[in-house]
Amino acid sequence: MGKYIGCDLGGTNIKGAIVDSEKGIVYGVRSIPTMAHKGHDAVIDRIAEFFKSMITDSGIDPTEILGAGIGLPGAIDSRTGVSVFMTNLPDHWVNVPVADMIKDKTGLPTFLLNDVNAITWGELKFGAARGCSSAVCFALGTGIGGGIVIDGNLVLGKTGVAGELGHQVVEPHGNRCNCGGRGCLETYASGPAIRSAAMKAVAHGGTTILGELCEYDLNKLEARTVAEAAQKGDQIAIDIYNQAGYYLGIAVSNMIMALEPERVIITGGVAAAGELLLTPIRQVVYERVHVTPLKGITILLGELGDNAGVMGNSMWAEKCLSAGK
Ligand SMILES: [Zn+2]
Repeated sequence: MGKYIGCDLGGTNIKGAIVDSEKGIVYGVRSIPTMAHKGHDAVIDRIAEFFKSMITDSGIDPTEILGAGIGLPGAIDSRTGVSVFMTNLPDHWVNVPVADMIKDKTGLPTFLLNDVNAITWGELKFGAARGCSSAVCFALGTGIGGGIVIDGNLVLGKTGVAGELGHQVVEPHGNRCNCGGRGCLETYASGPAIRSAAMKAVAHGGTTILGELCEYDLNKLEARTVAEAAQKGDQIAIDIYNQAGYYLGIAVSNMIMALEPERVIITGGVAAAGELLLTPIRQVVYERVHVTPLKGITILLGELGDNAGVMGNSMWAEKCLSAGK
């Protein structure tokens, strides 16, 4: 128990807050630009200064802040606190000892997680899976990330990259994926996938209000525009979400049959569509899962929204410190 800094490193912004691990209180989330183009050394300096100013401005006695957790957008080794490869950061952060560097600059014991594992851990501690010992999380955004908790522990895998749920195959001869594979969930249910299905429908002259909603500028078309159209009863938009939900349903069924989790959490920007996705997901699960008892398994939206990562990272720092790592 105590106070920890939780921090989310994104390609555009660095977000952070001091979190009280006992009560789940988040003290004023703030963010600064990442300036990723300046390279990892400069960004790590920025994070360290960010932490120091956060502590000073909070008025909290610095000795009460026991550690820090940082979520990174890519592959990391959370046991050693080293970033392995950040696909979306310009210099990719190959084998950078981020945790040690932050500790040297701030004095705070620092621990790393992959960003979606951090969201999963946050939802487990304070959100949609609180009180549960097992959960699976799908975070739907520009890509699709995942996180798995079994027996109260995050499943990290041998090299720390377990839980890439967006790259499970849901259509054997399906779309090509950026990962090099084919038919990955990400190519059917991510923000860009929904957007491109909508663009295709408008370009083909389908009867839809999508064109009107984006003022006939396809660059303005986003997943949330499609959700808005679907909520107004637009059949093409509803079909697009039904298809995304169908493929998510297959992926969720796979996870339920493999792991029998208490909760399946759907979160991230695209999950703002709510029932438009949950209804087809649940329908596919009921149609396809026969061996695993579904009673006691709940499929629901994340509850912490944008704070999930910050909360999860701070709670991860607490867990690592209390485990004496
Ligand atoms: Zn893929």
